[in-house]
Amino acid sequence: MKRTEIIQEMQYALAHIRETVRAKKAAGVKVIGCGPVFVPDDLVIAAGAFPVGVWGAEKLELYEAAEYYPPFACSVVQSITELSARGMYRELDGIMLTSLCDTLKCLTQTVQLSAPELKPIFIKHPQNYRLECAVEYMVREFTRAKEQIEELTGTVITEKALEQAIALCERDREATARFTELLAEKPGILTNRQRHDVIKSRLYMDRQRHLELVEALNRELEAAPAPEFRGVRLYACGVMLEPAEILDILDEQGFALVGDELAQETRQLRYRIPEGTSQIERLARQIQQIRGEAFLYDPKKERCDVVVEACRAAGAEAVLFSTMKFCDTDEYDYPWVKAAAEAAGLPVLNLEIEQVMQSFGGIHTRLQAFGEKIRGRR
Ligand code: SF4
Repeated sequence: MKRTEIIQEMQYALAHIRETVRAKKAAGVKVIGCGPVFVPDDLVIAAGAFPVGVWGAEKLELYEAAEYYPPFACSVVQSITELSARGMYRELDGIMLTSLCDTLKCLTQTVQLSAPELKPIFIKHPQNYRLECAVEYMVREFTRAKEQIEELTGTVITEKALEQAIALCERDREATARFTELLAEKPGILTNRQRHDVIKSRLYMDRQRHLELVEALNRELEAAPAPEFRGVRLYACGVMLEPAEILDILDEQGFALVGDELAQETRQLRYRIPEGTSQIERLARQIQQIRGEAFLYDPKKERCDVVVEACRAAGAEAVLFSTMKFCDTDEYDYPWVKAAAEAAGLPVLNLEIEQVMQSFGGIHTRLQAFGEKIRGRR
């Protein structure tokens, strides 16, 4: 398969989520919505069900969500609630949500109010995640989630099935992480929107198929010569870089993303699942791999070191911190990350974004000025 065909198949999956869900249901496959971050969708795959992402709806007009949230709630939870209240999750057999920030904790209530028929599975992560008792706690959380998935799907999740599902998800995470490294090695070889679509589509298509496509794409990118690139090598921080028009503006302005720690993108790929005495324990021990995570207790602000180290490894020249409007999680961290990046010689631009935004003139102007500033330093 050629590079363009691979990416088109992924983009098709992103543009036809409802069709995929309906096709799965027609084939007798159970479908469980999963979102937003650190969701153990390995458990869903182990039950023979299809995990489908439930966040990342762009430019949705919010009407129903206003019944459940004040206007100063971030557009991530408002969009999920809007879809839930409009009945867009009606075809799901269940929904598995994590609640890693205060606003997401509200989502565990509003989803039940806006779609009482939807069967929820909520996962709570411990803040002091490096303690051994945090692993014991996660074992209990994941065991409960496993039992709920078994009940929803009517399938017993065996150790063997979970081991195979973890192996598949790990291979896909590794291949997708390798894909991001290749783009850092050969900036400009794909557009920023293509990069985003390759990463995001793993949540909207069969994981096995996504793995096959990414591995094929990686082989092609490895063999391809690096294009001559005179633009700006950029590292992105934050929750997400959507709506995708922002990525198009980055392309237009000559920026190439060479790395990111976006919650919707690379942050879902960077923590390996270690060995353990059982498959559930392996999933639970993943939490101990985490370092410098905005959603979890990070009193020394290791996130700053993680960002600077990643920028150096990827050869980034500048940092784009995309702050989701009303996201206090990132608003607290932004001054620390900015100070650390600037001390390391990396200029930082803070862009406030919303999933629901419709106008991009201001973003265009700010990115243009930022690009000129960086080129002027060379
Ligand atoms: S954007 Fe921020 S406030 Fe909203 S759900 Fe994500 S972390 Fe929480």
